Amino acid sequence: MKQLPYGHQSIDEADIRAVVDVLHGDWLTQGPLVDEFEAALAARTGAKHAVAFNSGTAALHGACAAARLGDGDEVLTSGLSFSASANCARYVGAMPGFVDIDPSTLEATSDSFVSAAGDNTRGVVPVHFAGRPSDLSALAPLRERGIVVIEDAAHAIGAVGPHGPVGNCAMSDMACFSFHPVKTITTGEGGAVTTNDDELAHRLGAFRTHGIERRAPAEDPEAGGWYYEIDELGMNYRITDLQCALGVSQMTKLDSFLARRNEIAAEYRRLLADTDVELAAPAAEGQRHAYHLVVALLPEHASRRRVYDQMRAAGIGVQVHYVPIYWHPYYARLGFERGLCPEVERVYRRCLSLPVFPGVEDADVERVAATLLDAVAQAG
Ligand SMILES: *Cc1c(COP(=O)(O)O)cnc(C)c1O
Repeated sequence: MKQLPYGHQSIDEADIRAVVDVLHGDWLTQGPLVDEFEAALAARTGAKHAVAFNSGTAALHGACAAARLGDGDEVLTSGLSFSASANCARYVGAMPGFVDIDPSTLEATSDSFVSAAGDNTRGVVPVHFAGRPSDLSALAPLRERGIVVIEDAAHAIGAVGPHGPVGNCAMSDMACFSFHPVKTITTGEGGAVTTNDDELAHRLGAFRTHGIERRAPAEDPEAGGWYYEIDELGMNYRITDLQCALGVSQMTKLDSFLARRNEIAAEYRRLLADTDVELAAPAAEGQRHAYHLVVALLPEHASRRRVYDQMRAAGIGVQVHYVPIYWHPYYARLGFERGLCPEVERVYRRCLSLPVFPGVEDADVERVAATLLDAVAQAG
């Protein structure tokens, strides 16, 4: 029986050659391929700067640090996301606040962030859930109040929203991407922040490398070319040239990956139309979904646990995205209670992500849909 995961990288011989070429050269880390990858990301998103990190989580941490979020600040995000969307606030000492979702698009909408923003809110982390571009226009009044907008675009490289490519930061301060193997393009582990702000880009670069500023104090004439200073605490969040070689090569295939992901999603939509399984909303007219995930919503009467087990037993690696972030014991200890976001919890009980990645074939889509409808009928 063919095992089908929900997500998988797509690596070809050109990718492999690109990585091996780096091994023949002088730079394993922080060499020319990092610059090349960042240039490709900036060109693709339309942002002025891209700063690559060694994970999407590190990118989110860097964005919160560069925005100078910290103690006493509230940072709002969606209750339905990967925990890194909220953890990034904790890394800098800020406290997340969780916003409920629209049950059809599965996103925390900009309007709901505006309603939830209070006196201590200093940051907002909207998530382009599943790769569906979120409309961030309504966040403008928050930005006028000095609230920083950091897009969690981990699912959305290549998506196109109402203001152009996700990551162009037309309506935000920074956008964060992930290049984990299940994401649209991969560097093994990796991430990036895009921004149009020179100062933020500078801080992101310093934060990635221990906070190092290459300069010598003017009052010390004996401080030579070796000298550097650390103004602010940074990390070692550097991505390697090996990873960026893979990233540059993967970027050349982004459009074909997205086209196939969209085809697969359309086929699921066709096969599941007029059944009691719903799919999360497509992108709005004229926009482009990146389909990191295809999220099915099972009918209330079916046991999701039984459907999940039956799909897994059939070799279909369905997954649940996500356990509500604030349910995790870490967040419960910080005082967040179950019931906080009713729609997040309702969706959590019904959702099941179906396999979607370029290697999924038409016959696989048919098998997944048929097995799913069977499982739902039996779990009723
Ligand atoms: C994958 C992901 C991240 C983190 O990315 P890593 O590269 O795995 O650290 C952050 N946010 C969301 C929504 C994600 O799906």
